[in-house]
Amino acid sequence: MKQTANLPGEFELIARYFAPLARGFPGAFGLLDDVAVIAPLPGHELVAKTDAIVGGVHFLHDDPPDLIARKALRVNLSDLAAKGAVPRAYMLDIMLPKTVTEAWIAAFARGLADDQNEYGVHLIGGDTDSTPGPVTVAIMAFGDVATGRMLRRGGARAGDTVFVTGTIGDAALGLTVLRGQLANLDTNAADFLVGRYRLPRPRVRLSPRLIGIANAALDVSDGLLADLGHLCEASELAAVIEAPRVPLSTAVRAVLATHSGHITTVLTGGDDYEILFTAPPEAVNELAELSRTLDVPITPIGRMRSPSIGKQPQITVLGESGKPLIFDRSGWTHF
Ligand code: ADP
Ligand code: MG
Repeated sequence: MKQTANLPGEFELIARYFAPLARGFPGAFGLLDDVAVIAPLPGHELVAKTDAIVGGVHFLHDDPPDLIARKALRVNLSDLAAKGAVPRAYMLDIMLPKTVTEAWIAAFARGLADDQNEYGVHLIGGDTDSTPGPVTVAIMAFGDVATGRMLRRGGARAGDTVFVTGTIGDAALGLTVLRGQLANLDTNAADFLVGRYRLPRPRVRLSPRLIGIANAALDVSDGLLADLGHLCEASELAAVIEAPRVPLSTAVRAVLATHSGHITTVLTGGDDYEILFTAPPEAVNELAELSRTLDVPITPIGRMRSPSIGKQPQITVLGESGKPLIFDRSGWTHF
C-alpha cells in the first residue's frame, strides 16, 4: 500500500492494529511471515468461507467502524455455523481509501478484538491496500468440523420438519427503519430492529449440536423464502411453510399490526443470519431440549415434501386461514 497523508505505512498499520489480533495463534507467526499455517483439529476437516462487504453497498460510509468490522466477520461465522463448523481463525483483506483516518482503523480493530473474544477466533493474515473506491473488507473464516459430518444444503428428506432459529424479519425491518420508512414505530422497537440489522448473531454455539440431528441446513442471508428455495433445490424437494408459525419478535409483531403488508419484507427480506434446517419430525423433543439448554429459540415452521410434477411452486406458504400466499414480482401477496 502507498503511504497516504492520513495514515502510517502498511507495515506500521499491520504491526500496530492487526498483529495484536494474531496473538495466541502460533501459525500466524505474528503476521511477520508471508503466510499462515493452519491444520484441522485431529479427526476434523477445515471449512472455509469468504464474504466481502463494500462501503455504499453493504454498509453506509458513516457507520461506526467497529460495527462494520464485526458485521464483516460475523457474516462469515454465520456460514460456518450453518455447516455445523466451530470457527477458529480468519483472514482480513482490507482496501482503504485515502480519506480513512488512523482513528477509524483503530476502532475497526477494536471491533474485531471484541468479536475475537466473543467467538474464540484469531486473525491469522490478510492483505492491506489503498483504493480509489470505497472501503472494502473481505474476510475469510476457517472452522473445524468432524470429518465427513458437515451439514449440507442437499440432505433434506421428504417428511422432514423445517425448523428455524431465533426470529425472522428483524434485520429487514431494521433496514426499513434506517430508510425512514417506518416513522411511527416506537423508539425501543426501532432500535432493536436496527441493532439486528447492524449486528447479526451467528448461531455458532448451537450449530455443531445439530450434527447428527439435522439432515440439511443453511443460514438465512438472502431471505427465508429464497434460502428455503436454495435448500429445496439442493435437496430436490419442495416445502410447505405455515406463515403464522414463523417466529417473530415483539417489534416485528408491532410493525405487522399496523403494516400487515410488511409480512413480505419479513419472509423475503434477508440478513437474518439465523439457521434454517430440516430434521425428522421425531427430533422435535431433542431440539426443544437443545433450545432450552442453549437458550436459542428453535421453531418448526413447515415440512419438506416431494416436488409435484408440473408448474406447482417449489415452496408453498400458507397464511392465517390455511390459504396459500402467492408470490409475484412485487413480493408475496394474499391469494
Ligand atoms: P506480501 O508482501 O508477501 O504480499 P504483505 O506485506 O501483504 O505480504 O503481508 C505481510 C504479512 O502481514 C502477511 O503475513 C499478511 O498475511 C499480513 N497482513 C497483511 N495485511 C493484513 C491484514 N489486513 N490483516 C491481517 N494480516 C495482514
Ligand atoms: Mg510475501
